[in-house]
Amino acid sequence: MKKDEILIYLLVGLIVIFLISLGYFTWQKRNVKTVAANTSAVVKPIDILPEVGKTTKYDVPVLMYHYVRIAPEGDTLGKNLSVTPQNFVDQMAWLKQNNYATIKVSDLADPNKKEISKIIAENKKPIAVTFDDGYEDAYIAAYPALQKEGFIGTFYIIRDFIGRPGYMNQNQINELDFIGNEIGSHTLSHLDLSKNSEEVQQKQIEDSKQSAMSFCYPSGKYNETTVNLVKEAGYTTAVTTKSGIVNQDSNLLELKRVRVNDGNAESLRLAIEKAYSNGN
Ligand SMILES: [Zn+2]
Repeated sequence: MKKDEILIYLLVGLIVIFLISLGYFTWQKRNVKTVAANTSAVVKPIDILPEVGKTTKYDVPVLMYHYVRIAPEGDTLGKNLSVTPQNFVDQMAWLKQNNYATIKVSDLADPNKKEISKIIAENKKPIAVTFDDGYEDAYIAAYPALQKEGFIGTFYIIRDFIGRPGYMNQNQINELDFIGNEIGSHTLSHLDLSKNSEEVQQKQIEDSKQSAMSFCYPSGKYNETTVNLVKEAGYTTAVTTKSGIVNQDSNLLELKRVRVNDGNAESLRLAIEKAYSNGN
């Protein structure tokens, strides 16, 4: 072979190697692109968003209301337990404006803290709104005001008083339940449990339970036996009349609340603020 021929063969060989390499790299590049395209098609942005984490630290004011009405003249005790319908409307509007969102009292016992975590993830503040005794005005006045703000409440019913004058009937209670409110138990007949035998307490606590998960001690009176019976009956939460703000360390069967007296939105703000100074 002549020198020229060798050079030509070498040159052709180099060109062939170059072309093969070029082809290989182009193919590989396109392949990577395809893989990337497939990946982005499978993993949508929504899939890679982190799940809402469980909140381990929180404050939840549990507001305590009784009557939402204009109290009759001369009824001092009744007046102390009443908030006028207009003030209640204003108080709920204030909660909404101030970024509060409502939970059921029994949501406090959820091991995953789902509702509380959801609210906190939305940069809102969880709160529970409770009504003791099952008065008819809870249905007539409180319920529409709650609905207006997209809120729910927890209603503690005295089972033997259902349908009596001034108290909600079963249909009204069923409607509150159906709409997403919580129906809790406030015993059969509102006895002072701390002054009654274990047998009497047990009947009041168990026979009034039905499907309720939350319990409310009548007049805030109870003893150690009461708490044990409430637990044994299967309630996950129980509210007292003690003042304070619930948090992650609170005893779920002795929950403190914020007593709300009649007054405007500012008085509600002050009531919550005051309860903070009483611990959890
Ligand atoms: Zn009561």
